[in-house]
Amino acid sequence: MGWEQAKEVAEKSRGGGSYIKLENDGDKIVCAFLGEPFAKEIHWTGDTSELCEGEDCKHCRKGKNPSARFSINVYVKTLMTKTKKGYDEEEIEEVRIFEQGIYFFNDLVTVDEKYSFGKYWFEIERQGKAKSTRTRYKINVLPEDKITKAEKEMLGEVELFNLENPRGNDDDDDDDDDDDKTERKSSSKNDRKPSKSSKDDVIDTEDSQNIVTRLKMRPREELNEFMKEFNIKRIKDLKQSQLKQVLAYLDKLEGSEEKDSEDDDEVDPFA
Ligand SMILES: [Zn+2]
Repeated sequence: MGWEQAKEVAEKSRGGGSYIKLENDGDKIVCAFLGEPFAKEIHWTGDTSELCEGEDCKHCRKGKNPSARFSINVYVKTLMTKTKKGYDEEEIEEVRIFEQGIYFFNDLVTVDEKYSFGKYWFEIERQGKAKSTRTRYKINVLPEDKITKAEKEMLGEVELFNLENPRGNDDDDDDDDDDDKTERKSSSKNDRKPSKSSKDDVIDTEDSQNIVTRLKMRPREELNEFMKEFNIKRIKDLKQSQLKQVLAYLDKLEGSEEKDSEDDDEVDPFA
């Protein structure tokens, strides 16, 4: 067995690396949501997935639609695996990444509005058998389970994964060196932003994520229209000077769709 394989096995025995996964119907975690969510577009390619590269994307060119994925840091207190007799409980007590599609994200927004993430522990429950495409993840607030002062302090100090580039966290597991953070930052910068020298005034990552999230909700044609309107190939190429116009444009798009009342009162978590 080689190093890579051995590492994988070791990772598995710790409960799955940086991501927390609920494998079967009824499995749950008790967790607190931390930080801001992150949105990306991916293409499923068999067992794995690749990031959609926008205009130059080879998958898009073949006419395959990307799927929106949303991830968020969660502090997982307990992993509860459903058994015939009840639940097997495993104390995790670590930060993990929970990643899901649009349905989960919409729920997340609703739940945050209703209960506010800093106050309670939440439960995420898988509803759907392994491999079922209809699987949904239900978020339940645990009203009896308020986050205590001590827990709040602890949650304020835990290190979050860089959601733009979570793989970086996996490279050197338990090695707590300080270089780690700066390295991760610089590599994610390379991924996300065009080089400083050529375009100094592009919008920042937060704004571009915000715009990406809003555009994800729109039909494909509107997205194409948008790209044409602002003469860009990638959202992150938008200029600071265009930002105001872009936001107004989005407001208008969203405003024109009064019928979809459920989506209307959605608060933007990236704002
Ligand atoms: Zn693509």
